[in-house]
Amino acid sequence: MNDAFFKTVARAPAFGFGGGPLDRVSERRDDLAAVAALRARPDARAALIARDMPILPRGEAPLAPFFPLAEVERLGGARIEALLGLEAGGAPVFAALLPDDAVELISGDSEGFLDRRQLVVPGRDDLALIDLRSIAVQGLVDAASLAVLGQAKAILSWHARHGFCANCGAPTRVAAAGWRRECDVCKAQHFPRTDPVVIMLALDGERCLLGRQARWPTGMYSCLAGFVEPGETIEEAVRREIREESGIVCGEVAYLASQPWPFPSSLMIGCLARAASRDIVVDGEELEDARWFARDEVAAMFDKRHPEGLSAPAPMAIAHHILRVWAEGDV
Ligand SMILES: [Zn+2]
Repeated sequence: MNDAFFKTVARAPAFGFGGGPLDRVSERRDDLAAVAALRARPDARAALIARDMPILPRGEAPLAPFFPLAEVERLGGARIEALLGLEAGGAPVFAALLPDDAVELISGDSEGFLDRRQLVVPGRDDLALIDLRSIAVQGLVDAASLAVLGQAKAILSWHARHGFCANCGAPTRVAAAGWRRECDVCKAQHFPRTDPVVIMLALDGERCLLGRQARWPTGMYSCLAGFVEPGETIEEAVRREIREESGIVCGEVAYLASQPWPFPSSLMIGCLARAASRDIVVDGEELEDARWFARDEVAAMFDKRHPEGLSAPAPMAIAHHILRVWAEGDV
């Protein structure tokens, strides 16, 4: 690793949902009085989520996505609340999960690459529900707010799906200001999960390996990726996923950068891998195609002038940055 490598990473220290500005004050989460005092502050605000989708005020970007806590009450009160942390000036920010019936589904579904549900808050034309991916792609909030919205969505979707004890099946209750669930029957404690995913670029000299999934937008190629399995190191997961999806065997693996990915609760671990073989055999299940790409071809994909109309992932995704670092010749 040379200086250029670190300079490149430092140029964009956080991607998409990274770079959260809040002090998470985890040491105060079990202090009920301290949390109640924070909640009572007039400058306390909350990110609002209903059915996995953030609620934003309507208006021009950048939107201010946090609401006074009184708004939570007006919308029916929170099913689950979590203390996300404190802003630099000390103002607390909470995440509030509204009851499902606080919003109405107009049309669409969340299958596939994009969440196409159209949800509304009945009687509230000043509010809009917009899926987090669209908020990021369209730049509807600033980078710091996007990170907080991602934190809110990840923690609340964990709560929404972990209401029962994984050990004994009894209902669990929220503890530690939203950062733990406890079972009163078997006394088990449950913590919010973050699932590690490796996302990597295999390199063969001046070529890189990209693939595409059938459900992706037409023509988009990206880094290969997959979940780290129990008993595996990051390096082993990188080599296994590349071999399974493309048949390419890799040697050396280097870590580049990471990104929280709240769909629903992953941590993307960006790596480079040195290929030791060249013949691609696509698995046909996870990927519908994989190819070697030269640097100038990747540059054309970024500039939307690839002769076959192929494109690279958007800047909200760490894959974009891994690919750009390599395409610009910094590693
Ligand atoms: Zn239990």
